[in-house]
Amino acid sequence: MSQSSYNAGAEYAREKLKQISCSMCLAKWTQVTMHLHNGHTHSCHHPAPHFIPLDEIKQNPHALHNTKHKIKQRQLMLAGEQPEECNYCWNIENLNHGHFSDRHFKSGEDWNEGQLEKIKANPLDENFLPTYVEVSFNNTCNFACMYCSPQISSKWMEDIEHGGAYDLGNYQVHHLDYLRIKNQIPIPNREVNPYIEAFWKIWPELYTNLKVFRITGGEPLLSKHTWKVLKYIQDNPNPDLIIGINTNLGVQDAFIDRLIPIAKDLILNNKVKNFELYTSVESTGVQAEYIRDGLDYKKFISNLNKVTSEIPMLDWKSKTVIMATYNLLSIPNFRNLLEWLLEWRTKHGSATWKKLWLDISYLTYPNWQTIALADNNMLAIMESDLKFMQDHKEQAIGHHGFQDTEISKMARAVDYVTQNISKDKTTEMMQFYNFFNAYDLRRNKNFVKTFPEFANFYSRCKEVANA
Ligand code: SF4
Repeated sequence: MSQSSYNAGAEYAREKLKQISCSMCLAKWTQVTMHLHNGHTHSCHHPAPHFIPLDEIKQNPHALHNTKHKIKQRQLMLAGEQPEECNYCWNIENLNHGHFSDRHFKSGEDWNEGQLEKIKANPLDENFLPTYVEVSFNNTCNFACMYCSPQISSKWMEDIEHGGAYDLGNYQVHHLDYLRIKNQIPIPNREVNPYIEAFWKIWPELYTNLKVFRITGGEPLLSKHTWKVLKYIQDNPNPDLIIGINTNLGVQDAFIDRLIPIAKDLILNNKVKNFELYTSVESTGVQAEYIRDGLDYKKFISNLNKVTSEIPMLDWKSKTVIMATYNLLSIPNFRNLLEWLLEWRTKHGSATWKKLWLDISYLTYPNWQTIALADNNMLAIMESDLKFMQDHKEQAIGHHGFQDTEISKMARAVDYVTQNISKDKTTEMMQFYNFFNAYDLRRNKNFVKTFPEFANFYSRCKEVANA
């Protein structure tokens, strides 16, 4: 799907969804992320993951997706109510400024074609087969990004194990996550894991219905199940399937070098429809390294160049996506990332946005790291970045320019900040200071030195925290 048809798809979906209700979203049925290492699931990836009770998967392994909790959220949507867990979308829609939310974008994508009719036929089906599956086999990760958690990163778990909870003044962050993982549910990376067993039970059936399969983590290249799935796909080609892998591109070279020939085989031998590589960065240089603890920015760029040059495009059958988790600390340096991307696309020739995409998602949690905390100075920088993107859009400078969807995602982030600008942020400012003060100590970092642009803001947060 091209980026302009991406917007057209969202427009079409917005109208079609109204047939069911004003809060209907196909992704609640068709898209799932399964965190198999700790028995959690969510639809889509925006709501907080919820626990999958073991007795539910014992009775029916399809409960990896169709949990009782999720069926309840679907009922709310059918009745036109806005499930609270989907605030990511309601935050945007309730601005009433006509922006598309992800509910529209996702419902309009190719993998949702024909799904509305299927849902209508049996809306509360406990065996509903998703078309877009994202799976995490374990939480082993070499990074501990500031906005991540012990549930998803083994490095974060080590941090909490050694240093205890982060004391934010009003509550202890990540401690509960950690206790829950340790005491109540299967421990990550156990050899015998009932969720992974349930996955392999339903995999052959799931596979026949899949349009998109995406592997996440932790760092998925560090899991043996990733390689097992890839081998399965090599042995059982599915030319309708889009296969995606999230990787931080910071692993040892051997893993990247193992992935590239597999990708080549899948693409050149028509074993899948598309091969997509997703990676993340939302700033550049030392600021990016501060946000994504474990990142070596130079190595990241070098690996990004390696995969984009060695994995063949072949009629646009592969793409790489930079997922920018746009957060408060992205603001000072985001322009550098935009400029770098433009330069990259210019160097690589026309229509290279098809090769290297930018997807701007705004961070919703932790509260003290989100753009809702931005002040007027920060908002001005964001507005200027948006203008930069508009001045360099495809229609103005050619095929390597920014696409409508890239720009509209930035526009909605700006709008979101504008709406929040005068809200009381005392609690989040206190949490901001307490968190980054501890993060600096534990991770051997220095906030003020890394973000001199935020020195005043940091001082104001410190005053609030010490008041
Ligand atoms: S967060 Fe939005 S896109 Fe995701 S399931 Fe909810 S309504 Fe749909």
